[in-house]
Amino acid sequence: MNLSSQLHETAKKFADKPAYYFMGQASTYAELDGAITKFASGLEKLGVKKGDHIALLLGNSPHFVISLYGALRLGVTVIPVNPIYTPDEIGYILNNGDVKTVVALDLAIPLAEKVHTLLPKVEHYVFCETTPTSMVQLEIENLTVYPKMKSFSEVIAAGELSFQGPDLKEDDTAIILYTSGTTGKPKGAMLTHKNLFSNAKDVSEYLKMNNGDRVVTALPMFHVFCLTVSLNAPLLSGATMLIVPKFSPKEIFTLIKDYEATVFAGVPTMYNFLYQYPEGDPDDLKSLRLCISGGASMPVALLKNFEQKFNVLVSEGYGLSEASPVTSFNPLDRPRKPGSIGTSILRVENKVVDELGEEVPVGAVGELIVRGPNVMKGYYKMPEETAAAIRNGWLHTGDMARMDEEGYFYIVDRKKDLILVGGYNVYPREVEEVIYNHPDVVEVAVVGVPDPNQGEAVNAYVVRKNPELNKEQVLEYCKEHLAKYKVPTTIEFLEELPKNTTGKILRRALKAQVTQAVGK
Ligand code: AMP
Repeated sequence: MNLSSQLHETAKKFADKPAYYFMGQASTYAELDGAITKFASGLEKLGVKKGDHIALLLGNSPHFVISLYGALRLGVTVIPVNPIYTPDEIGYILNNGDVKTVVALDLAIPLAEKVHTLLPKVEHYVFCETTPTSMVQLEIENLTVYPKMKSFSEVIAAGELSFQGPDLKEDDTAIILYTSGTTGKPKGAMLTHKNLFSNAKDVSEYLKMNNGDRVVTALPMFHVFCLTVSLNAPLLSGATMLIVPKFSPKEIFTLIKDYEATVFAGVPTMYNFLYQYPEGDPDDLKSLRLCISGGASMPVALLKNFEQKFNVLVSEGYGLSEASPVTSFNPLDRPRKPGSIGTSILRVENKVVDELGEEVPVGAVGELIVRGPNVMKGYYKMPEETAAAIRNGWLHTGDMARMDEEGYFYIVDRKKDLILVGGYNVYPREVEEVIYNHPDVVEVAVVGVPDPNQGEAVNAYVVRKNPELNKEQVLEYCKEHLAKYKVPTTIEFLEELPKNTTGKILRRALKAQVTQAVGK
């Protein structure tokens, strides 16, 4: 079984049911499945074949869903790329990923024209029209990429509904996800049809997703959290996606209210934006049965405040690109534990181990390792990195964790974010959790910076709710709740914290800033 053929089955069962809403327009499962088949067939007519690589440089849209599932139906490997990456970043991924076809918005035509000499392997550009006349106005005939160009609607129009895709093997690579990585070049995690299908199915069962659900798809589709939780799982379950092109609290409140959404998935910063939004009316969210948090640790204070204000359950899960991504979630039929990433999902095993790979006792901290049908095949063209990440069949996550006696896991922090203050271990998350509890704080990030006396010092970057809050008050608060060596040496107030496009706070950007200023 694979995602694309399963969607075909879902479409037979729920033909007239809306598969998605996007900017007020609906598409039924039958219409979506037809567009996917025609796109697959149209691509084949262009000369694209099973085993080729296609890059999607698209934001959240039906174009993304149709090209993703269309390519999968043809047995083509998909590489989703953040469309706002710089030309250098895009060029690296397209070259390293041996991409032959690019699907992008027509707005990207000038960019493609600029960089296409660097991309000799690209044979086809498929541009999605933002308006019915947009391509006409661009005078594309004069461009050098013109001979390689087709519009999205031309590809669909050329496709045939009778198209039968090739047989797909479960271990064929379905998607390559380039992870940002803190050092070196991005690595392409190869996820197979089995990886993606099993994770979407397990997540949908674990969260009891069903055809009555209306799921807010607001996370970026090129990120694996969205792909599995807010796109593949709803489409497997016959649910309806409410596709949001760009996250904004105002739009989310209106959408949930107007479409009576039942499930919302987001990263913690999204929950913080919704919680802090002054016009956020709890009544607007009353249709929600479940909020899902993942991608970064959910501060316990935020989780509790959000649940209390909006009267909805927030269930935290954990995952990473290399595991398609979900490995654990707080269960819905047992108590949800704040601060925990929950228990292992179906068919996935989690273990906490020491440096030697031995399982540590309950409650002790070690590295979290995972095994299951969702774990990637390896990194594309990087055998050494693959061997370092997957040892004896277990994926090493690089995250430090502990497990309680009931099998619930807790992420302590990323291994590489550990701060060593005069020989003592300080995990930034612990300090952040304390500062988040302060009623005048909106957001906080803690990083370790070089210190001539102690090796490293703890720096805290705080976004204030109340401009009267001063550094001494934050320090006093920390001293009340933390051992002396964990108390930040420096507190700095910022207007906002740096975040990536998924909304994750970028501690390393803050660290780089300070390290540079300190004198390299
Ligand atoms: P990515 O591959 O971009 O999905 O990032 C995966 C990383 O996000 C993991 O290795 C963790 O460091 C972090 N992460 C994901 N979910 C959580 C969570 N619930 N709590 C803490 N960290 C998380």
